[in-house]
Amino acid sequence: MIDYHSHSIYSDGKNTYHETLNRAINKNLKEFGFSDHLCIYYPDWAIKKENFQNLINEIIKIKSRKDLPIEVKFGLEVDYIENREDEIRKCMELFPLDYVIGSVHYVGNWNFDTKSNGYRSKDINEFYKEYYRLIQKAARSGLFDIMGHIDVVKKFNYFPGFDLNTIYEQTAKVFSESDVIIEFNTSGKDKPCKEFYPSREFLQHCYNHDVPVTLGSDAHRAKDVARYFPEALEKLKLIGYTQLASFTNRERKFLDF
Ligand SMILES: [Zn+2]
Ligand SMILES: [Zn+2]
Repeated sequence: MIDYHSHSIYSDGKNTYHETLNRAINKNLKEFGFSDHLCIYYPDWAIKKENFQNLINEIIKIKSRKDLPIEVKFGLEVDYIENREDEIRKCMELFPLDYVIGSVHYVGNWNFDTKSNGYRSKDINEFYKEYYRLIQKAARSGLFDIMGHIDVVKKFNYFPGFDLNTIYEQTAKVFSESDVIIEFNTSGKDKPCKEFYPSREFLQHCYNHDVPVTLGSDAHRAKDVARYFPEALEKLKLIGYTQLASFTNRERKFLDF
């Protein structure tokens, strides 16, 4: 199996690449991807500019090892910031990447992913509409291979007053047209929403629109690598998925599961 979403001490994770990789090896994964946060705002939870080269050197060194029983991938989780696409692209191009996860953590200046306060003063209907507008624009930007935790807006259990199926359907269609894939991100189960990202309903729309999927634990600690993967695979199978997408040098292929 593969885990394409993890964080290390280069961004907001708690462990080194080596500690995280050892856990992935112990979990018998076939492929493991490092995907620290890259954000052109340079918040304290993302990779610092002065660490770019060290991070690159470290991953290249790991990837060149011949003794590893696992395929290591160089990924990043990159923040989509509207109207800053060129800047994001230039920054990403500094890294020799296998894949890029595109995530939306900001609506306007608000990072809705880090703190639950802030939701109470917001119009939740508008927040959802704005988030899905941004995630669709992110998909269309051509910057990304994989869309990250696509319904993370549910994280703190704030839901809009309208039925989300129309937005899910539209968004799945945009993913399909933009030739991006989604990740089934298991971290949501440990969050207040207690559910993987995306929900079964949203996953079904993605499947109906032939949007491929890959797997990510979004581990910020080595011990969370591949968390809940047996359950995730069962859920994917129930929807109808039989393959996971894998990337090398930003080229996609598929693995049966
Ligand atoms: Zn994220
Ligand atoms: Zn992440």
